[in-house]
Amino acid sequence: MRQCLTSDLGGYYTPKTSSENDQFGTKGDFVTSPEISQIFGELLGLWVVAEWIAQGRRGEGVYLMEMGPGRGTLMDDMLRTIRNFPPLAKAIEAVYLVEASQNLRLAQHKLLCGENPLTENSIGHESTSKYSPDLKIIWAEDVRFIPQDPTKTPFMIAHEFFDALPIHVFQSVPPPPPQNEGDAADTIQTPTGPIKNPRRLPQGHQWRELVVSPTPPHRLKEGEPEFELTMAKAATPHSMYLPETSSRYKALKDVDGATIEVSPESLAYARDFAIRLGGSNPETSAPSQPAAGRKAVASAPREEAVMKDEPSGAALIIDYGPASTIPANSLRGIKQHTRVSPFTSPGTTDVSADVDFLALAESAINSSPGVEVHGPVSQALFLTAMGIEERAAQLVKKAMVEKGRTGEGKEELTEVVKRIEGGWQRLVDPSPQGMGGLYQVMAMLPFRPEQVGEDGKRRRPVGFGGDVRL
Ligand code: SAH
Repeated sequence: MRQCLTSDLGGYYTPKTSSENDQFGTKGDFVTSPEISQIFGELLGLWVVAEWIAQGRRGEGVYLMEMGPGRGTLMDDMLRTIRNFPPLAKAIEAVYLVEASQNLRLAQHKLLCGENPLTENSIGHESTSKYSPDLKIIWAEDVRFIPQDPTKTPFMIAHEFFDALPIHVFQSVPPPPPQNEGDAADTIQTPTGPIKNPRRLPQGHQWRELVVSPTPPHRLKEGEPEFELTMAKAATPHSMYLPETSSRYKALKDVDGATIEVSPESLAYARDFAIRLGGSNPETSAPSQPAAGRKAVASAPREEAVMKDEPSGAALIIDYGPASTIPANSLRGIKQHTRVSPFTSPGTTDVSADVDFLALAESAINSSPGVEVHGPVSQALFLTAMGIEERAAQLVKKAMVEKGRTGEGKEELTEVVKRIEGGWQRLVDPSPQGMGGLYQVMAMLPFRPEQVGEDGKRRRPVGFGGDVRL
């Protein structure tokens, strides 16, 4: 997946020539929510404003970060919205964009920075916002290059990013048939007589990795993909390790044919977000006790500690995938708005997989005692709670007033209204293949112990059942 999507040799997002480069929009392979309606980015911008208010309106040190910004439309819509809240706009020290594709970085730069020069820096590239010469926009190819500064308040957005991160697929196979007592394979001859072979065959089910292999020539058909998914004949390093990392996977191990998809890179991103928000888990990174009021969490490998005095910031993850089950058989290819085999023309087909939201939540909570997770909730629920319908009505009204002023034709106005109405309704469409139900929204926030008098009714973030509290 990694090679097909972002390889230097010409991946889907990193083609060798820029003419191949418009994956988004009606002419490309797929249309994403920010490209459908400006309201999507505006509401995400408002969500950041609401969280910033709820966390005490910090006057400095705010980072806005986006993973995989595509054409940059979402960030542009967010920044335009945030400009209406000057104290937050002023508090934003930098915008960080994680982008593996050079072509998309250039498109984002053009949209967000206009003619301002793009220069190299120690972590990637940088420029300044077209909205303000004081606002730096900084690009890195991986979130790990962005400094983890515990004094900062990062607001992180990942829309349709996690589905592009590589997965490993495992299937549970039953144990081999038992050996008969006295079988040659079961005994070893020694100078003092036969002893039982200490190399015991596996007793229970085993995870086997499904790997991509070339289709054998006798099965290769004209016009069909040259690769297929086959089961590894023996354990692989990944099959011995990854399925043992969560009780969710272990619970399926004894089910014949159970299939699970695990994305270690996604878990690493969730972990990174959690640490930026809540600081490292003191139990695993430094020999100290969790601070008063913080949760103690289970251990993970040791790493450089990020100790945060007070958790701050938020992460919002929007993507498709089941709300609580482990994805299976979800690896897919998309070409020109049609689902195709993920092995069709590698490097020119979009390849993606369902996001395992619960795995991301588990990774975040295990990585930092300073975070809590809300959702996932359906995109329809989230955007409705954020006021998508009201914002659309506002835009329609504005278009009408403008029409009155400019004397624009009736047809143009009908077109604009149709686009606004059609756009927002598509984003919240609850039908089985509609975006409102397929996409889920999950938030990571600073962990807040229950306060006196809350009686189990703790603050919920806006969009997840909560209100904006001014
Ligand atoms: N968020 C955008 C685009 C989503 S497409 C939108 O909603 O329109 C996925 C984006 O993630 C692209 O910008 C792609 O280049 C980037 N991307 C994919 N894999 C990546 C990786 N491993 N590291 C960094 N960026 C990646």
